[in-house]
Amino acid sequence: MIEPGAAIGILGGGQLGRMTGLAARSLGYDVHVLDPDPNCPASVVASRVVAARFDDAEAAASLAEQCAVVTLEIEQIGPSALRAVAERVPLRPGAHAVHIIQDRIRQKQWLHDEGFPVGPFRAVSSREASSEAVAQLGRSIVKSTHGGYDGRGQVRVDSEDAAGRAFESLGGNPCLVEQFLDIATEMSVLVARRPGGASPSGVVVFPPALNFHVAGILDWSVLASSVPEETVRQGSEIARGIAERLDVEGLIAIELFVLRDGRMLVNELAPRPHNTFHATERACATSQFEQLVRAVCDLPLGSPELLRPAAIANLLGDLWTTGTPDYAAALEVPSVRLHLYGKRAARPGRKMGHLSAIGGSGDEALERVLSGRRALQR
Ligand code: ADP
Ligand code: MG
Repeated sequence: MIEPGAAIGILGGGQLGRMTGLAARSLGYDVHVLDPDPNCPASVVASRVVAARFDDAEAAASLAEQCAVVTLEIEQIGPSALRAVAERVPLRPGAHAVHIIQDRIRQKQWLHDEGFPVGPFRAVSSREASSEAVAQLGRSIVKSTHGGYDGRGQVRVDSEDAAGRAFESLGGNPCLVEQFLDIATEMSVLVARRPGGASPSGVVVFPPALNFHVAGILDWSVLASSVPEETVRQGSEIARGIAERLDVEGLIAIELFVLRDGRMLVNELAPRPHNTFHATERACATSQFEQLVRAVCDLPLGSPELLRPAAIANLLGDLWTTGTPDYAAALEVPSVRLHLYGKRAARPGRKMGHLSAIGGSGDEALERVLSGRRALQR
């Protein structure tokens, strides 16, 4: 067990690192961060920021040297940097899980090979193969293998020609072509696992979040007990299975699609806190950030119990184009809280913060964050 007072290292200093750092501070830990930007969102909660690229093995070693354990908030970390950490202190989640997840093709192939349900896909490495894949799959999404997030690095295509062009526009590197699925709802499940992960107390599964995306970016997410029991059971079983097979120490989020024909498929994995579980801070007995700290320090995991419905709505940089948002107006809405990430530049599509709210139902909590967000617009 890594006792409070020790230092936790975080690879990545974005909003997820910042909120993890805040939870770590609450529990009495010191926080060190590695990020290319010395003024990254997590810098204000870190007693040391190692300013370096995510593939800088020397910098990663330097981070690890002063920490008792290292975790991460972004999966795009170079293999040699991961190794440099793992040679010195426990890296949680481990290099194997990160290796599988950080490459979209490797991840999808792994899910498929392990027998987890995924939609039809092809791994392609040429313009011709990309066209051929769409000839077979029909309407598809071409996804870059590395570095895509918030819908970036993805092109929706509905012809062989468009598929070829999409491949080129994504840099001509290997891509994942996925059949465009007929999605009824998007859901995610978060699993926390202690080192060793022996059930029952070593693994905890949070209730599923219901998610809504606009243009590939999460718009809002709700945690409530309205998801049908059988859907919860199925999603939890898949998520728990993935966490076990990857031997995850820490957190893993599993994004799921529920199709109109009722099938549940895995979309993608994230070995870290997840935007769709920010509402755990309001809804659950334990927030995802505290749970991550507990898991990587091998402390007893907290209860994921849903105490009350809650929702979050993301605040993108677009909201800042007409000046500073009307924070006061949003905070007038009952139970609404404002979470800002301390990012200096507001760019369209960039996640700058979120609003959270609780409610008597998931619908009420959602209505509150959405009306709070409307109120922000001047
Ligand atoms: P990111 O890493 O940007 O989150 P995702 O693969 O999760 O990438 O895609 C972002 C969103 O795009 C998903 O949440 C979903 O709304 C939509 N999407 C992704 N893949 C598919 C698909 N195969 N069919 C239909 N919609 C999809
Ligand atoms: Mg996603």
